[in-house]
Amino acid sequence: MKIGKNTVVGFVAGVVVTVALLTSLPDSPLPVSEATAQKKAEATEWSPTKPYPAHEVYYPGTEELKTDEMRVIACGTGMPQPRLKQAAACFVVELGNGDKFVFDMGEGSYERIMALGIPLDQLNKVFLGHLHLDHAGDFPAFYFTGPVNNRLTPVRVWGPSGVKPEWGTTAWVEHMGKMWAWEEASRGSAVDPRGLKLEVNEFDWTAVNKVIYDENGVKIRTIPAIHGDQSVSFVLEWNGLKFAFSSDTLPNKWWREHTQGVDLSVHECFIPPQFMMEKYGMTPSEAVFVGTQGHTAAQAFGKIMSLTKPRRAVCYHFQNDFDTAPVVQSEIRKTYDGPLDLATDFMVWNVTKDEIRTRMALSNEESFPAPPQRTKQPPDSMKAYKWTELSLSGVDPESAAVTNALIEEFNKRNGTDVKPSLTGIPFQNKQKK
Ligand SMILES: [Zn+2]
Ligand SMILES: [Zn+2]
Repeated sequence: MKIGKNTVVGFVAGVVVTVALLTSLPDSPLPVSEATAQKKAEATEWSPTKPYPAHEVYYPGTEELKTDEMRVIACGTGMPQPRLKQAAACFVVELGNGDKFVFDMGEGSYERIMALGIPLDQLNKVFLGHLHLDHAGDFPAFYFTGPVNNRLTPVRVWGPSGVKPEWGTTAWVEHMGKMWAWEEASRGSAVDPRGLKLEVNEFDWTAVNKVIYDENGVKIRTIPAIHGDQSVSFVLEWNGLKFAFSSDTLPNKWWREHTQGVDLSVHECFIPPQFMMEKYGMTPSEAVFVGTQGHTAAQAFGKIMSLTKPRRAVCYHFQNDFDTAPVVQSEIRKTYDGPLDLATDFMVWNVTKDEIRTRMALSNEESFPAPPQRTKQPPDSMKAYKWTELSLSGVDPESAAVTNALIEEFNKRNGTDVKPSLTGIPFQNKQKK
């Protein structure tokens, strides 16, 4: 069995991104296409003043997606345990026809999504494989703060039904609205209302290979996953390319049958139980259950990849570090010798029929929201938030005078006539007396 064949391991720390291509292993040359090899062999003179002609990293927003190309960006590859380096599950898929999809939105992933600089209007289709926090935990923040991040279109979410109706996606969304009722009433009253709308598409979690999305040449199918019931995996198909995403699951017969030969196969994979004890303080029975029964052991990941033979296998859902990665890799290599990437956050795949290219993205740590894609509308006056007398009576008049002067200055500079609402009150009250 070959070790280390065509494997990419990424380590991200802050903005410093290192792609460790494990090319030094003697029996493991990186297979590159002939065209790429040819291009690299040609001598290239770089201008000292113009942009460098080639990069081995991806700078989001700087490369045109070709009409036949799929780009997949990992925005969360880690665990439920929060950590700076890896958010919980989230993969963004961008297609050459202009469509974009988000698969899972675990804790911490929203900030990764925002760092890509993609307008939220273009990221309004979210597919949730199951409703654990490490796969859906950032959805409320994504939804409710969307309008202040210039989203002006409704969000569309797809998620599985529940074993009990109250555990399904429709109920989950209803309860989310109840939990964040004041958030919606207060913030929602101050923004363009078009972005604060939600379309919920709950589908049968037991459906096998059923099309749940079919628009603009893109089909997304669902298959059951084995992960505490009511969990699913997805297969996206477009332009002859297939992307499979497991969310959480044990290797199963549906995955085996329906992901045969896909282009990019993203499947969960865990560090061995020994690590689960050492690093998470789990008991032996916890470590074995979580690492091999609730989730896919690395060797089992390798086995299912050998059985399905994707063009490229991607394992995720483990802390991808200097000490865990070699172990996970050698476990996988006991059962699989095909193309493999050990995912970490901001790993990027460019997929065409000719080539699958894996790189790391260098994302913007100091991002601001992308500009609105349409002219903004004023907030819905029917939804105006009514303050209590207590708050209104508490505005400090002297500080308010300073703020009012600022607003006057702002109006002069911008040729506007914005009136202070709260800080105007002490002066209105004075006039009334
Ligand atoms: Zn889960
Ligand atoms: Zn998970």
